[in-house]
Amino acid sequence: MKKISLLGATGSIGLQTLDVIKAHPDQFKLVSMSFGSNISSGINIIRQFQPHFVAVKDKETYEKLKLEIPNEEVKIGYGQNALIEAAIFDGVDCLVNAVVGSVGLVPTLKAIEHKITIALANKETLVTAGHLVTEHARKYGVDLLPVDSEHSAIFQCLQGENPKNIERLIVTASGGSFRDKTREELTDVTVEQALNHPNWSMGAKITIDSATMMNKGLEVIEAHWLFDIPYEKIDVLLHKESIIHSLVEFQDHSIIAQLGTPDMRVPIQYALTFPNRLQVKNSKRLELWEVGKLHFEKADFNRYKCLQFAYDSGKIGGTMPTVLNAANEEAVAAFLNGKIKFLQIEEFIERAMDKHENIAHPGLEEIQEVDQQTRNFVQTLIS
Ligand code: NAD
Ligand code: MG
Repeated sequence: MKKISLLGATGSIGLQTLDVIKAHPDQFKLVSMSFGSNISSGINIIRQFQPHFVAVKDKETYEKLKLEIPNEEVKIGYGQNALIEAAIFDGVDCLVNAVVGSVGLVPTLKAIEHKITIALANKETLVTAGHLVTEHARKYGVDLLPVDSEHSAIFQCLQGENPKNIERLIVTASGGSFRDKTREELTDVTVEQALNHPNWSMGAKITIDSATMMNKGLEVIEAHWLFDIPYEKIDVLLHKESIIHSLVEFQDHSIIAQLGTPDMRVPIQYALTFPNRLQVKNSKRLELWEVGKLHFEKADFNRYKCLQFAYDSGKIGGTMPTVLNAANEEAVAAFLNGKIKFLQIEEFIERAMDKHENIAHPGLEEIQEVDQQTRNFVQTLIS
């Protein structure tokens, strides 16, 4: 029985992780969890899965939850310390980190120190401090297992392979909600249009990231850290059907790909069962004759500036990816709140990166400082 801690339980990845846990009650037990402020969804989960500890984002949510859930049923906490407590709760074997944003960084680091296996959906963690997370995982001998579908695909393609033979990682991209629009047509797009992703139903932030292609940029940085591959050997390939989840090319120019219908429960479950596999309940089988045709296009870095910024920041390294990520988080939240226009997201990220004086080998405190400074700077641009 694997004891699971799930951060971000009420989110898109969180709920699908709970589906996986529910489908295999003999394999998995939810022992602790966190959520932001969606009380009704949180209560449903607590009643159904009966974890021992629950962390929520703030005091207000905590007070409300206390009125509904008596103390003897489950322990409740709030804020960053509670998030960490949930991550390292007594007996946890595997932390599924599915919060959104760099708030997931410290819980991941702490869980690694407690030798807890990490199933990582929270890509912002690797973008903002990839060197710290991977060094930590190596030091404590802890597995960092990808949940992101592209990275799960690459991870699956690499089983039994010698990493030295990798020639190139090819990360596929659906192109997001605006893939058929020209740059000019992006000027006045609405939040509602941006949230309408053609292939995947996901949380709001990542759906906007897909529309700007920042999601793919974050994934390139994520791949760099997870697989220890230089940026020159990571390519992005537009593939609108999201059937091929990513590919690996080897020295002999042989390419291995992982395919399947778009269903996040597959990579989530693989991270939980690795190196084994289990059935995924009601998952749709891929019949290639039904699909008929698959399409591929070269990624256009002028059309998708955020993708370029991500490569640039990754190659510069140091605190630049922290700036990229923090500026993006603030700008996307402002776009979602109707405060800025779609193309201002990339404009503000570019301005934050231009202004930043890079720190080459930052520690955790420097990263947290730069993260906060960047957020403040973008907030002044927004207002
Ligand atoms: P979401 O917005 O649907 O859910 C986020 C969860 O985190 C919610 O439970 C929310 O309550 C919680 N949360 C947010 N802020 C918090 C805070 N400050 N403290 C505690 N909890 C907080 O997001 P999602 O789509 O599930 O994505 C989660 C992560 O997984 C992101 O990093 C995203 O990039 C990554 N991811 C998502 C998908 C997907 O299909 N949704 C695919 C690949 C990777
Ligand atoms: Mg992905």
